[in-house]
Amino acid sequence: MRTPTRRESFPLSRLEGAPMARRKKIYEGKAKILYEGPEPGTIVQYFKDDATAFNAEKKDVIDGKGVLNNRLSEFFMNGLTQIGVPTHFIRRLNMREQLVRSCEIVPLEVIVRNYAAGSMSKRLGIAEGTQLPRPIVEYCYKDDALGDPLVTEEHIAAFGWASQQDMDDILSLALRVNDFMSGVMLAVGIRLVDFKIEIGRVYEGDFQRLIIADEISPDSCRLWDIETGQKLDKDVFRRDLGSLTDAYSEVARRLGVLPKSNVSKPTLIN
Ligand code: UDP
Repeated sequence: MRTPTRRESFPLSRLEGAPMARRKKIYEGKAKILYEGPEPGTIVQYFKDDATAFNAEKKDVIDGKGVLNNRLSEFFMNGLTQIGVPTHFIRRLNMREQLVRSCEIVPLEVIVRNYAAGSMSKRLGIAEGTQLPRPIVEYCYKDDALGDPLVTEEHIAAFGWASQQDMDDILSLALRVNDFMSGVMLAVGIRLVDFKIEIGRVYEGDFQRLIIADEISPDSCRLWDIETGQKLDKDVFRRDLGSLTDAYSEVARRLGVLPKSNVSKPTLIN
């Protein structure tokens, strides 16, 4: 008889902090599941191992991706909090889950680009890797059925997705996140080519505030090694360039999020 592998011999729920059955599911997306949190105004964000690309036309399960993204998103959100950028992050609960503040998501993907790549290179015919004269912020309307189309501030204001004041705040948040993330990455020899963030609205009495929501991880950034140009982000999956877990583990290792001795076993770190 075949000897069970390590993963088979332990129930996944104990080993990997799978969500407890009693939690009420609020929403399941491509890479995460949201559950009702323990207190009002909180949500438990569970990171799945599922990877999708090209509007979910390409799909796979990547062992350990959720654990790495949970850790990396915690690291970036905590760093942002420390420099005074408000985020939804409250605390990490276990290897796959984090407690976040519940918020109303602004229906936009906010993309910041420092170098041309991906859809911008295709759209404008600029070679991937070309440094842009300054960071460029783009907005896409969050609608999978439409493939998240690029929109302008005119569309956003006319359709009421965000006010002019919101847009000013979103731009300044996006640029602060860019400065922070670019610096953190540069310090470990990684170029932040571009990234996507989502913005949440929270209400405090009569006031509303905008905060960074969703996740910040190699799923939503383009990260290239400065020396070799090696891709350390989801393009490894999109373009079949090798092991996604190895790429994300390398980012985590350089940032000190995973101990050096355990890079090949990210699922064992709590
Ligand atoms: N991005 C993302 N989710 C999306 C679309 C884009 O996280 O639904 C990220 C992507 O990983 C990259 C940046 O936003 O870091 C810019 O992506 P781009 O518009 O070039 O799209 P792509 O080439 O990925 O289709």
